[in-house]
Amino acid sequence: MIGILGGTFDPIHYGHLRSALEVKDIFGLTEIRLIPSAQPPHRQQPIASVLMRLDMLKLAIENQPDFVADDREIKRIGPSYMVDTLKSLRDEFPETPLLLFIGTDAFNQLKTWHQWSSLFNFAHIVVMTRPGFRPQPLDDCFIERHTDKVTELAHKPAGKLYFHQVSQLDISATAIRNMIAEHQNPGFLLPDTVIAYIRQHQLYLRQ
Ligand code: ATP
Repeated sequence: MIGILGGTFDPIHYGHLRSALEVKDIFGLTEIRLIPSAQPPHRQQPIASVLMRLDMLKLAIENQPDFVADDREIKRIGPSYMVDTLKSLRDEFPETPLLLFIGTDAFNQLKTWHQWSSLFNFAHIVVMTRPGFRPQPLDDCFIERHTDKVTELAHKPAGKLYFHQVSQLDISATAIRNMIAEHQNPGFLLPDTVIAYIRQHQLYLRQ
C-alpha cells in the first residue's frame, strides 16, 4: 500500500511528519508520498512559493528513506485538484491500494473539494485525528464507505473510509507563521533544518 499526504506545507511541521511516520509504520506502507499543493483551490494562497515549500519538505524528510517528496502538482498547470493527483497516481500504480491521509479538519471540508466523491474511485481515505477538530457526523454516502476493519484497505485498491488515531500534536502552519511574524522561537514544532531555511529566506516575517 502507498500512502499520500497532500498539503500546503507552508511550512511543513511535526504535526505532518509525526502523523506520516506513524501511519507508514502502522499501515505497513511501502512509501508515503508528501505532495505539496501548487495552487490550493480551497484556501488562501500560500505565502512561500511552491518551490520553497518543496525545498522545506525535502529538508524535513532527508533522512527518511520511505518518505517521497512528490512534485506532480507542481508540474501541472491550473488549480491543484486532489482528484487529478490521485488519477495520475492510479495510472502509475494500477493495482496498488492507495491511502489518502487527511486530517479531521480537511475531512470536514471534503464535500467542498472538486469532484470529491470521485476521490474514492482512486484511493481509500484515512482520516487522522487532529486536536481541536471532531469529525462531522457521517451521512449516508460516508456510512456506506466506512469500515473499521483495517484489513479491508489492503484487499481493495480504493473506495473505503477509515478513521485512525495519531499522536495528538496541536501544531499548525498558521500558528508557526504567526510566531515567526511575532519574532517568537518556533523551535521543536518543526525540524531545525526547516527553521534555518525559513531564516535564510526571511520567510513569514509579516502576517
Ligand atoms: P495551515 O495552518 O496553513 O492551514 P496546516 O498546519 O493545517 O496548515 P496543511 O499543509 O494545510 O497544514 O495540512 C496538510 C494535511 O495535514 C491536512 O490534511 C491536515 O489536516 C493535516 N494536518 C496538518 N497538521 C496536522 C496535525 N497537527 N495533526 C494531524 N494532521 C495534521
